[in-house]
Amino acid sequence: MELQVAATGEPRFQRVRGMHDLLPEKATRFRQLEEKAKMLFELYGYGEMRTPILEPLSLFERALGTTTDIVEKEMFTVKDKGERALCLRPEGTAGVVRAFIEQNFRKTIKLFYMGPMFRAERPQKGRYRQFFQIGTEYFGNPSPAADAETIQLSAEILKSAGVEIAIRINSIGCATCRKNYQKILLVFLKKNFSQLCENCKKRMERNPLRVLDCKGDSGKFPNAPKTTEYLCLECKQHFTQVQELLAAVEIPFEIFPHLVRGLDYYTRTVFEIFAKDKKGSQDALAGGGRYDGLVRELGGPDTPAVGFALGVDRVIAQLEETGKIPMGRSSPERKKIFVAAVGNNTIPKAFQLLTQLRRAGFEADALLKEQSLKSQMRMADSWGAQDCVIVGEDELKENSVTLRDMKNQSQKKVPWDAILSALQ
Ligand code: AMP
Repeated sequence: MELQVAATGEPRFQRVRGMHDLLPEKATRFRQLEEKAKMLFELYGYGEMRTPILEPLSLFERALGTTTDIVEKEMFTVKDKGERALCLRPEGTAGVVRAFIEQNFRKTIKLFYMGPMFRAERPQKGRYRQFFQIGTEYFGNPSPAADAETIQLSAEILKSAGVEIAIRINSIGCATCRKNYQKILLVFLKKNFSQLCENCKKRMERNPLRVLDCKGDSGKFPNAPKTTEYLCLECKQHFTQVQELLAAVEIPFEIFPHLVRGLDYYTRTVFEIFAKDKKGSQDALAGGGRYDGLVRELGGPDTPAVGFALGVDRVIAQLEETGKIPMGRSSPERKKIFVAAVGNNTIPKAFQLLTQLRRAGFEADALLKEQSLKSQMRMADSWGAQDCVIVGEDELKENSVTLRDMKNQSQKKVPWDAILSALQ
């Protein structure tokens, strides 16, 4: 924890670098996007999955691959009391796959998750150390239709939030055709060795594909060999069918033959979705693909799978930049009622009334402390109350309240048991 000194001379705590407090306005936008996604997940037959934020470090090393940026330098690792190495999850798939194997899920299952992820990246715009993802994993379906549905679903979430999108897809083949491609790519990279960043120079031999999505080197080599030219027959057919299915439901896409994604577990289809006006390789709003080998790699049965993850922080930032916020309320607009308690002993009665109003489905608020009626009215006004219910000493004696219409400032007395009907 970094400490600064406050005016009083006391130390002042600060949030951890690259991490953010989400204030109510922003947090509401996050929630609204999550709710839109949840509604779509229900339509598409996905069930929710919540996995722990802490997982064994070795799970990510094994799942993501040791030559990935995340595992090489971006993990927040911790030791538990027994000195076991743990890690704050940098992404959602590995944990869901771990659970899929450990809990013996049925063979075909569709799951979604949402929550915080942690990567010790260099903080900058759109790149945080704690960020939120919404994602899915679809286990047990090898069909290109599962890939197409996954791309469609992630696109639908973004579109329903109001983002204009551009989809890029590619196929990186199966283990066999990828091996072939890697050899060809390595020859190309050796010829261009001097242009590589220091990190890629080191890992090029072990994992040449990494160069194509390296933050520094991606885009440097438009003439690099294309993955699509080295696909085996089955992979080629699979990719063609994905494209046909997307076209059948009128989802526009571009093929990007250098798109490989940052993690080792992908096979065949990979995709990324961008805002239409922002297609820099570091600006993806969502990404995903097929990972047919991962369940087995982590000790489970051979299970095809496909999924995506969408960056909530980036989507909200995009909507804010393009003036598409607010997305609208997550629940229908309700009448707002302010309860003002004035004078001795009126607070318990006002508190009762506040409770009744909320139970009846009104948005209700009150100060519930001794304060002049005038300043309570000011508060009601700035909160946007349509009506105000005043509980004063006279009203208490008469078992009534005063109802004030905040717009035209008219007032009337209403008996206690007629309040709800008077407000509706
Ligand atoms: P990835 O798991 O790297 O494929 O990321 C999927 C999505 O999560 C990306 O398209 C981004 O929208 C988002 N994302 C990834 N890393 C970060 C980060 N450090 N900060 C904010 N969003 C991120």
